[in-house]
Amino acid sequence: MTQKIDLRSDTVTKPTPEMLQAMFAAPVGDDVYGEDPTVNALEQKTAAMFGMEAGLFCPSGTMTNQIAIKVHTAPLTEVICDVTAHIHQYEGGGIAFNSAASTALVHGERGKMTPRQVEASIRPLDNIHFPETRLVALENSCNKGGGSFYTLEEIAAISEVCKRHRLALHLDGARVFNALAASGDAAQDYGLYFDSISVCLSKGLGAPVGSVLLGSKEFIKRARRVRKVLGGGMRQAGYLAAAGIYALDNHVARLQEDHRRAKELEQALLQASYVESVLPVETNIVIFKLNESMADAAFVQALAAQNILASSFGPQMIRFVTHLDLTEEMHQHLLQVLQALNQEQVEA
Ligand SMILES: *Cc1c(COP(=O)(O)O)cnc(C)c1O
Repeated sequence: MTQKIDLRSDTVTKPTPEMLQAMFAAPVGDDVYGEDPTVNALEQKTAAMFGMEAGLFCPSGTMTNQIAIKVHTAPLTEVICDVTAHIHQYEGGGIAFNSAASTALVHGERGKMTPRQVEASIRPLDNIHFPETRLVALENSCNKGGGSFYTLEEIAAISEVCKRHRLALHLDGARVFNALAASGDAAQDYGLYFDSISVCLSKGLGAPVGSVLLGSKEFIKRARRVRKVLGGGMRQAGYLAAAGIYALDNHVARLQEDHRRAKELEQALLQASYVESVLPVETNIVIFKLNESMADAAFVQALAAQNILASSFGPQMIRFVTHLDLTEEMHQHLLQVLQALNQEQVEA
């Protein structure tokens, strides 16, 4: 197969011709003045989908998360999240830098915290030694958890703890549509439980750029100010927002396809002689551990030699992510290559 099969992330997708058409056709204006009709439409559309009042279009999911944390916290306060959370692991220490807040880390199950774990991490208010807990942040689906997801019921139970302790609840929903596709829950209901939601358009949905932060009108008003401070106020951003609108209209339903393929990769890997274990596959992420017969660098190299790109994800760990730009032909080829690697080993 001469075409590259890129499994490193669902961020590697390129806009489809139809998406590019939608971008070309977008009416635009200066969004810092609030005058870009396409940005405004994307913000309203996304907010309505999730049962939220308002939205804010930003360049990245890191920015939407960091803005949300900044608005919910104050210096010397604390955010409760799982130890594997993107906001803690992969945002460059931004919580400390942008918000001067600390993190209380929960050792959850594949990225998921229980209400009990969240409650146990809340600091006692009357002791000056501790930072003051302000925010709980969930990730759905959980990247490092191998694409595991929270159900609405689990979210509601954590929300109940937050309400009782007057804590805000934020969702890092970089792959929230994958979580929804797997759980069957309605996006609309998320608005009942979260104070803010970050939705990425450039992950599984195939837009080239952009994330939307959702919340109450008051929250988004404050978030808009922080976005400007961070340098995220864009001008004729409607060209980018149009890609997001197109993605929401056309690329959500097909996520099931990515999940089916991820499941088939899981099956192939479970049968491979070089694989020790695979994290249970629930959405579009496949994280697996190689046994001693195969070093992770050698495995990545063996795939690269066949034009297949994968990510090393820690010692002996590999991550595959399925997405929009993989065809069924590529998928079938990949399954064959994974099987052939077995035979090569047997013959060696
Ligand atoms: C990708 C991702 C983000 C945001 O990443 P950006 O590259 O800044 O858009 C946030 N959270 C999770 C879980 C992610 O996977």
